[in-house]
Amino acid sequence: MKLMNQNQKHNLMLSVKEEVITCQKCGLYKTRILPVIGQGSHNAKVMFIGEAPGANEDKTGVPFCGRAGQILNLLLESVGIKREDVYIANILKDRPPGNREPAPDEITACTAYLLRQITIIEPKIIATLGNYATHFILDKFGAPESQLGISRLRGKKFPVQDPITQKSYIVIPLYHPAVAVYNSQSLDALKSDFKIISEQLKIL
Ligand code: URA
Repeated sequence: MKLMNQNQKHNLMLSVKEEVITCQKCGLYKTRILPVIGQGSHNAKVMFIGEAPGANEDKTGVPFCGRAGQILNLLLESVGIKREDVYIANILKDRPPGNREPAPDEITACTAYLLRQITIIEPKIIATLGNYATHFILDKFGAPESQLGISRLRGKKFPVQDPITQKSYIVIPLYHPAVAVYNSQSLDALKSDFKIISEQLKIL
């Protein structure tokens, strides 16, 4: 399939942004301050997908800019990957009030935007952060393991193909960085799984 040039990517990402800004497909637009559309390189080889914006992200529109973001930054640094070279997005673009878990209707409504972003960016690796992102991505791309828990899936590589676009990706599930804020074992697991991402990048 023909790769998109920079201009095409830019325009397509811009149209996703414009649609998200005015989106009212679920009720979350009523309580959000800013939508968190995504951040990073449109040519990223790795795309990180989290769950949903928290309070800091809602205020700034920047994904992973709070405590979980500090852990994510530290993990990227630990393997020499620059944050500006990856793309970071979430399953939901708007903050669920009180940081409750994403509801099924919100996931259904919002993830069409994320899937478009994946198709435009064409990352080699999709690193899913936590259960919600992992289940959604593995299920969407037809991996039979999609219902297993994150502790069974983390650090493994799942080659998948998008049934609609036919594009191929390697999905690498990871713990959500928020679990490492108070748990040093999860932080160690994340550090070792980030090494798997960086090793995979070297052989792509
Ligand atoms: N947690 C997430 O899943 N995403 C963010 O952007 C911030 C915290």
